[in-house]
Amino acid sequence: MVSSRTGSAKWKRIRTVVINEARNAGIDHCPGYEGHPCNRPLDYESVGEPDSVEVDHIISHAAGGVDSVENARILCRACNRSRGAGIRPEVPAIELFPLDGVWMDMVLPSGSE
Ligand SMILES: [Zn+2]
Repeated sequence: MVSSRTGSAKWKRIRTVVINEARNAGIDHCPGYEGHPCNRPLDYESVGEPDSVEVDHIISHAAGGVDSVENARILCRACNRSRGAGIRPEVPAIELFPLDGVWMDMVLPSGSE
């Protein structure tokens, strides 16, 4: 018998909780994931569409993540599929900027040390 960890009864419960929480919180745009801002309007009613709401492991099982509400978040299906397929931006956004000189003065709050 083949069992999928993402298809477990526990994960289904977590998924329901996370979706309900997001919906109740009025989250209606996809938050995206690391290095991949999205902001696609979410459709809580549809299933299998690019704008359908899906629940993603923030830390994947492969990286030691567990099935928990704390390790779950909503993404649009398009984001979840991209992420699940391992297609990630190779260049983090911060590398678009020089890490020295005036940029750091602008990025770091002054007087925080
Ligand atoms: Zn998205």
